[in-house]
Amino acid sequence: MTGSERGTAGAHDPVDLAAMRADVSAGALITDADVLAAHSQDRAPFCTAGRARALVRARSVEDVRAVMRFAHRQGVPVVPQGARTGLAGGANAVDGAILLDVSGMNRILNVDPVERTCTVEPGVVNQDLKDHVHSFGLAYPPDPGSVAISTIGGNVATDAGGLCCVKYGVTRDYVRRLRVVLADGELTTLGRPTAKGVAGLALSQLFIGSEGTLGIIVEIELDLVPALPPPVTAVALFPAQSGAAETVSAVAAAGYRLSMVEYLDRTTMGILQDYRDFGLPAESGAMLLVQSDGDGDTGRAHTDLQAFEGVAHERGASEVWVSDDPAESEVLVAARRAVNPAFEKFTHARGGGQFIDDVCLPLGALRRFFEELDRLAAQYPDVVIANSGHAGDGNMHPCVFFDAADATAAAHAQLVFDELMALGLELGGTITGEHGVGGLKRSWLARELDPVAQDLHLRVKQAFDPRGILNPGKMLADLSPQGTA
Ligand SMILES: Cc1cc2nc3c(=O)[nH]c(=O)nc-3n(C[C@H](O)[C@H](O)[C@H](O)COP(=O)(O)OP(=O)(O)OC[C@H]3O[C@@H](n4cnc5c(N)ncnc54)[C@H](O)[C@@H]3O)c2cc1C
Repeated sequence: MTGSERGTAGAHDPVDLAAMRADVSAGALITDADVLAAHSQDRAPFCTAGRARALVRARSVEDVRAVMRFAHRQGVPVVPQGARTGLAGGANAVDGAILLDVSGMNRILNVDPVERTCTVEPGVVNQDLKDHVHSFGLAYPPDPGSVAISTIGGNVATDAGGLCCVKYGVTRDYVRRLRVVLADGELTTLGRPTAKGVAGLALSQLFIGSEGTLGIIVEIELDLVPALPPPVTAVALFPAQSGAAETVSAVAAAGYRLSMVEYLDRTTMGILQDYRDFGLPAESGAMLLVQSDGDGDTGRAHTDLQAFEGVAHERGASEVWVSDDPAESEVLVAARRAVNPAFEKFTHARGGGQFIDDVCLPLGALRRFFEELDRLAAQYPDVVIANSGHAGDGNMHPCVFFDAADATAAAHAQLVFDELMALGLELGGTITGEHGVGGLKRSWLARELDPVAQDLHLRVKQAFDPRGILNPGKMLADLSPQGTA
């Protein structure tokens, strides 16, 4: 059945946008083909983008409502967009879509020091929010690697994680209330107004991680915490990556409340050193970068890290340094944060092909995962695999580099991607810990969810978006109703 037969506009059916132009802010509606093309992709590899019919740079909730009312009437697909830093193709255009860019709705509306909350528009950049609430002695902890460029709306829509989530949790843990524009343009508020609240179903939770498939998030009330205490930092170097994996499990089992547990393998350290001299020894097999803030008690932070040092040495660490000098800690964390630009430089030098994957594993499976990465690297010598990630959560980001002009290498990179997905599931993990499903992993979501869960997902989607106009072809697109799989 075509879109037109369902009463929705086919991708190439003409749609008169004049009615929408009259209802949105002046200049918000753009149809210039070059501008549309420039807005049609996020940062995901292997994901095609369709041809959008329009871009709306929304400036207000009323703009968003006008777009959704129009799209619902006409049956036109809508792709919500934040800063398009996504790594799963979630913000990519689909054919005939209106791209609904909410990054310009970027006001911080309120900070309430008594409730310890803030209310923001979806386009506020995560780091800008952190800086703003810091002046109130408060903190918003979730810190994706894209903290300086991604939006809170995008973070909520993907349930973004990050470096400190091992102790402070992910975006979901901070969302108190959402205002959302539904598929037909209706506006509603979901969540709780108070620190506690159990009135009705927790529908706001459905929107967190929904990747633009259920509605447009137009306002977000977030819980805050007191400003985070300065951490003590430690680095442990291991001749073998198995030692790092075992240390992560042992530290978790011992119950130390570390606020960061990051992993870098030998290849990643080499790429980082080539990018800038961080003093990382090329001969080490793996590195753990950990922090403890001791809940504000420096003595306890030191005790945590001394315990970490002992555990790491028992598991074969060749060196462990501990530092409570904030400047030195910052340099070490900067090295971790430099992984992404270092990878970009390496990518260009290696022929331009790269993807960063995202699997989350039970901690006990990390060692086997590392071994399998070695096997894949040996099996496909025309790709380079560098592994790093949030080891304390079991969330690994193997990055695969290949020469994009070499069709065999590109095919091998795709095979590695598929093997990593299969491996994640085989080891009892999930296909995505934080980057989301988007277009990239939609077929893998169908493998992760059982038939009943798939059917439930589709029924929820049907309830919120009966015409199927919100981000079609993404996340839920390969799921089957029960009885048809
Ligand atoms: C260098 C780099 C490092 C990264 N590190 C991390 C990391 O450590 N942890 C992590 O979790 N992610 C990370 N990411 C991925 C990405 O930054 C996150 O997924 C982020 O949350 C996306 O935010 P965005 O504003 O760019 O959203 P977009 O990419 O624009 O959109 C992401 C998804 O959310 C939907 N969406 C966006 N805004 C709204 C809205 N207001 N209402 C409804 N749906 C919406 C879109 O349709 C899309 O499906 C990284 C990306 C890069 C480039």
